[in-house]
Amino acid sequence: MKDFNEKWHFDPAEVDCLVLSHAHIDHSGRIPKLVKDGFSGIIHSTHATRSLCSILLLDSAKIQERDAEYYNKRQRKKGKFDDVAFKEPLYTGDHVHDAMELFYSYAYNKWFNIHPNVDVLFKDAGHILGSASVTLRIQENGKEIMFGFSGDVGRPSRPILRDPQPMPELDYLICESTYGDKEHSSAPEDFKQLLQVIEDTCVKRQGKVIIPAFSVGRTQELVYMLDQLETDGRLPEIPVYVDSPLSVNATMIFGAHPECFDQELAEYMLIDSNPFGFNNLTYIKRTEQSKELNTSEEACIIISSAGMINAGRIKHHVFNNIDDPKNTVLIVGYCSPGTPGGYLREGVDTLRLFGEWKPVRANVVVMDSFSAHADRLELLDFVRPHKKKMKKLFLVHGTLKKQKAFKELLHQYQIDQVEIPSLGQEFNIT
Ligand SMILES: [Zn+2]
Repeated sequence: MKDFNEKWHFDPAEVDCLVLSHAHIDHSGRIPKLVKDGFSGIIHSTHATRSLCSILLLDSAKIQERDAEYYNKRQRKKGKFDDVAFKEPLYTGDHVHDAMELFYSYAYNKWFNIHPNVDVLFKDAGHILGSASVTLRIQENGKEIMFGFSGDVGRPSRPILRDPQPMPELDYLICESTYGDKEHSSAPEDFKQLLQVIEDTCVKRQGKVIIPAFSVGRTQELVYMLDQLETDGRLPEIPVYVDSPLSVNATMIFGAHPECFDQELAEYMLIDSNPFGFNNLTYIKRTEQSKELNTSEEACIIISSAGMINAGRIKHHVFNNIDDPKNTVLIVGYCSPGTPGGYLREGVDTLRLFGEWKPVRANVVVMDSFSAHADRLELLDFVRPHKKKMKKLFLVHGTLKKQKAFKELLHQYQIDQVEIPSLGQEFNIT
């Protein structure tokens, strides 16, 4: 992975421009490094993607600077002082600043020009705030080629964001396949289940509901759900805390981009102009305030990041509350195996955090309907309209197993022009 992050398959200085589908760090994370290594073209994105990148890339730089500093300190302690023993961050905050200067941002559904022969269209991908599919309209040798990249495809009927919008007719499509082998559970029980967990934990047992959640997307979905419950008078009178500086900043960016909201949220805002704020909700940025929560005995809900409990303040909250049966840890997202969140999903009896084994006595509840990625049938719906005209479909962004499973599903629907490219493989398009 280290090698993968450090090396390019091309010379960044030779790249004219970059078109970015969305702000998630697995798509945008190396932009500052691209700039550091010689790229000086324009970065094209939607307005909200630019806003989110400004906080996510800075956060990424900070993590890398901290990691490098920690590693180098340990090397020095071991008595190693030569240059090779030291680590440099992939990029720093200064490189993020340089990268942000290169962004041009656009609205959805409007063609714009990035080269004399190439126009671009962003359609809403319904995945995270600002996410877009990208269509290139290329004029070459008197011919027009429509070339698409799905970006990450979201799910229909999710809160806050619009459903994924269809792309124009395409000749070629590069499509994600994250859940090419899986169907998600539907979501109508979400509110009921969330409320049940809160009532059982906070009202009956006077405990805490600890929710590990990604700062962008999941946190705002949860806050919006709680906001709606509060507006309906169904939320018990208990304090709710969003404890993560990044989540607080991300929520402010959500509020600044109502152009990305779906009809339902736009209508809700007619009765409640702030869907991410209510009386009992406190956003916490300062470390001291977060530490106070660690020792507090009050029944409350704490939403904190990271979603997999492998970093950030959530580690402290889980550490301090996991051994008490009156509390609940509510897992609302995917957690990689091997992370504390992954272990809790597997149902372990003890959990190692900060080098200490803690007994898992709190309830662990998993709600899986929050995924921001389309499942295999939703992906199929996304691809099917292109079946006739499309010359090739390239599957990316999924393990080989998932790509093969999705290719098989496509085959059942007579979509056979499918390629699973390997890293660095080249194709001619005509
Ligand atoms: Zn994504």
